[in-house]
Amino acid sequence: MKIGFIGLGIMGKPMAKNLIKAGYELIVADKFAPKNVEEVAAAGAKAAASNQEVGSQADVLITMVPNSPNVKEALFGDDGAAKTLKKGAVVLDCSSISPIASREIEAELAKLGINMLDCPVSGGEPKAIDGTLAFMVGGKQALFDEYKPILEKMGSSVVLCGDVGAGNVTKLCNQIVVAVNIAAVAEAMTLGQLAGVEPEKIFQAIKGGLAGSTVMNAKAPMMMDQNFKPGFRIDLHIKDLNNVVDTAKAVDSPIPLTQSMLEMMKILHRDGDGSCDHSALLKYYQKLTGITLHH
Ligand code: NAD
Repeated sequence: MKIGFIGLGIMGKPMAKNLIKAGYELIVADKFAPKNVEEVAAAGAKAAASNQEVGSQADVLITMVPNSPNVKEALFGDDGAAKTLKKGAVVLDCSSISPIASREIEAELAKLGINMLDCPVSGGEPKAIDGTLAFMVGGKQALFDEYKPILEKMGSSVVLCGDVGAGNVTKLCNQIVVAVNIAAVAEAMTLGQLAGVEPEKIFQAIKGGLAGSTVMNAKAPMMMDQNFKPGFRIDLHIKDLNNVVDTAKAVDSPIPLTQSMLEMMKILHRDGDGSCDHSALLKYYQKLTGITLHH
């Protein structure tokens, strides 16, 4: 079985390397990141000159690109891999995109006799490198059972959440919780420092209690260090929250917290912080108060 891999960015590059380590034969492409293609080829993959070349040789095609239009372009654009994929092939789209788009893409692929699972991930670059990502999958049970072993080479948790689109619905739920949690940490630390308590003391005192979280453990130290190196960029989180808005409209679900997060992140984007890690939500509070969070 040959695996095609399109999109070798922050996440795709280490994920592809883990598949090579696991013994799979890979053919890879990323038209905008030739250095990453060279690096993954040096690790043992075949470098393709185009997405169509990847499609022509792959039994399984993994896509790991930013958003819905990028997945559509990679599959159905001028150099679309779906044009050369054989009938019976499967697309495992690991990108975080709109669940509505996932269902549209599945329908287009089905016309060509190609199957699909949407399998977005949580965990970020460190877990992509360690092969301990959490996969949220949407699709048919039989397909899931067949291709789960591939995902398990890149992740430590692989959960089928429902039919196609359910993976990305779950990912959007994840992104709401993460955004609100980061903002809550930033808001609390700012209040604490202004009220005269050292942020480090607040972190040490509350991280083991009910307020503690994986988000707090990962992001509070970054905030106190003023380290906003991504990680997960504000601009990608804006993309996810816009997908939450579209999905919420479609199912009439209230999202006041998501709307607030989106406003805060858009202000940061406007001020040139879109490429910062999402822990830079702290900067929103720093701008308003004039303080700089310290240890
Ligand atoms: P990235 O921007 O670093 O990488 C995306 C890659 O896709 C780029 O190298 C780009 O050149 C390539 N690409 C785009 N369109 C293409 C096309 N048509 N053909 C070929 N290549 C194409 O992004 P990333 O951080 O690796 O994120 C990828 C996906 O994973 C996104 O949906 C993101 O939301 C999600 N994600 C990211 C993280 C994170 O921490 N970075 C965590 C979880 C999920």
